[in-house]
Amino acid sequence: MKPDIQPNKIAVLTGAGVSAESGLPTFRDSHGLWNSYSWEQVASPEGWRVRPAAVLEFYNERRRQAWLASPNAGHEAIASLEAAFEVVVITQNVDELHERAGSKHVIHLHGELAYARGTSEARKRYRIDGEPITMGQLCEDGTQLRPDIVWFGEEVQFFEEACSHVAGAARVLVVGTSLSVFPAASLVTMAGARAQKVLVSLEVERLPPGFEFLRGRAAEVLPALAAKWLEDERVRIAQA
Ligand code: NAD
Repeated sequence: MKPDIQPNKIAVLTGAGVSAESGLPTFRDSHGLWNSYSWEQVASPEGWRVRPAAVLEFYNERRRQAWLASPNAGHEAIASLEAAFEVVVITQNVDELHERAGSKHVIHLHGELAYARGTSEARKRYRIDGEPITMGQLCEDGTQLRPDIVWFGEEVQFFEEACSHVAGAARVLVVGTSLSVFPAASLVTMAGARAQKVLVSLEVERLPPGFEFLRGRAAEVLPALAAKWLEDERVRIAQA
């Protein structure tokens, strides 16, 4: 059963594009990471089995960059919505720029660079901030540590929870994702028929049904959009 729509709830779905203006490369744009690396080698269980040191090196560099990056005006605009709305940020990103911008409720579907985890079933997780993981560095259960990242072919985290947040939101804002990685991309289909649905990106291949497309950089488009939604909500409450 679909949850009831909450009038002041916003679900924000973000991808690599929201962090691009913080200096973190996306995956699929012309300067994207997949032009320099093969995802099979660095972001799959098979790549980890064959060349674990190369996988660690790839993520150590991602972690170092993410640790040094700062949130941009796009992350800040999303956080500002909490002044009047219940906001849930559901991100494919593995950086923590939403949290640093002040967003309180962030769901990471694909894991987080700032954590390492063991490779046994227990998956014990450790906070490592921007530090590298090295070969031979073990979890307390004796297994090699790996990045706490969901690789291609692995199960996405918190997906059911994310679906229910999207289905219960009066507004769904999608930012900076090519909507090409599943199942994360399928979250847009959970949005309610009557929800206001907006997609902000530089380009879109197939606009999901019911979405308005705002073309532009997240750091430029989102501050104006957030200001408008905050004003609309102020008026809605005043008239209630
Ligand atoms: P993607 O690279 O496939 O697509 C990025 C999208 O963002 C594109 O549609 C592009 O047009 C748009 N974009 C680029 N710059 C933008 C900007 N300044 N403002 C608004 N939109 C902009 O990224 P994706 O859809 O997130 O791909 C999914 C995978 O990428 C996820 O698995 C995620 O873990 C991973 N990823 C994360 C990070 C990060 O955490 N910062 C960085 C790279 C990749």
